[in-house]
Amino acid sequence: MNDYQVSRTGYYGEFGGAFIPEMLYANIKELQDSYLDMLEDPGFRETYLDLLRDYSGRPTPLFFAKRLSGQYRTNIYLKREDLNHTGAHKINNAIGQALLAKKLGKRRIVAETGAGQHGVATATVCALMDMKCTVYMGAEDIKRQKPNVGRMKMLGAKVIPVYQGNQTLKDAVNEAMRDWISHPAETHYLLGSVVGPHPYPDLVTRLQAIISEELKGQMKEKTGSEDPGTIIACVGGGSNAAGIFYHYLDHPHVRLIGAEAAGKGIHTNKTAATLLTGRPGVLHGSFSSVMQDDDGQITEPYSISAGLDYPGIGPLHAHLHQTGRAEYYAVTDDEALDAALNLSRKEGIIPALESAHALALLDKLDFPPDEHVVINLSGRGDKDLQTLLQHLENEPD
Ligand SMILES: *Cc1c(COP(=O)(O)O)cnc(C)c1O
Repeated sequence: MNDYQVSRTGYYGEFGGAFIPEMLYANIKELQDSYLDMLEDPGFRETYLDLLRDYSGRPTPLFFAKRLSGQYRTNIYLKREDLNHTGAHKINNAIGQALLAKKLGKRRIVAETGAGQHGVATATVCALMDMKCTVYMGAEDIKRQKPNVGRMKMLGAKVIPVYQGNQTLKDAVNEAMRDWISHPAETHYLLGSVVGPHPYPDLVTRLQAIISEELKGQMKEKTGSEDPGTIIACVGGGSNAAGIFYHYLDHPHVRLIGAEAAGKGIHTNKTAATLLTGRPGVLHGSFSSVMQDDDGQITEPYSISAGLDYPGIGPLHAHLHQTGRAEYYAVTDDEALDAALNLSRKEGIIPALESAHALALLDKLDFPPDEHVVINLSGRGDKDLQTLLQHLENEPD
């Protein structure tokens, strides 16, 4: 029997750990020693669940997508994380970590952001909880993601452009960690996915596990069984997938599937499919699969979807991939764009480009007519409208 829970020292099989500079040791140790007690504290749990319900709008619905089901001759359900406040699953984690930071006596939050979704979620909870918020964002991403930069400013966050490296997400993480090292006493680093040093991968997984917790009850109500046949989620760092997989990890008959961003294709150098093209290595404090060249230098990822454009992946997914508990497939930019258009026309739901990668797997995999397939609709497509409309103009009528 495989164990998919993190070990006491922060490992999933051979992946994980905490590879951190000496200067962060005290902060990481404080989190490691306290996060499980805090998460299990009844007072914390009550506040967290109240905010998820009254502020973010949970539980998110499980929607039976009738026309999509007809098209693919199976039963397809969408877990509507796109209906959360701020438009994606990221708020689940941001609310939880901000509450933890308060408990630890921190008054200031730093965060990194790529597409700006995590930055917006973080700026939102900081406004709500009266905390100072600094968000690091690659200068290149700032140019690409104007509306989210505006939102963060509106919410009172300080957005600091990062000019190092390729001026994207990986560089923003480095700068956020540097900031944390310089202000360890009053600051909490609110990391946005199931990556980074232990305990972040487990902490963020547990805060996102509300998705599969709700799903079990919703499946039971709709189908008579807690267990769908298959669950599909897109994987950037891997947090929405970890959240919807979590309560099913030890249900071996539930098939778990992750969609990685192939970009222009996994045999090109324009890809972000970390598990399918990467090798084991350390990135941002964790041993996992990493996109790297022959000398171990991190290579620049590419995906049309900014939220999947990251050269690493959470150690849980590296482990699930290695053990075969979950399967991972690559989806190209064009396949994701087609899937986004299809969902918009079939169900009246415009998905985030990230989520569209999960939807695109319906074209690649075959499911029996009596199967129940759940797709995690991690976010909404408003932020991607520009890109989606360009694609639409290239469509034949
Ligand atoms: C950020 C984001 C993702 C990718 O992050 P994960 O940690 O892999 O979930 C996926 N979908 C949406 C809508 C996002 O904003």
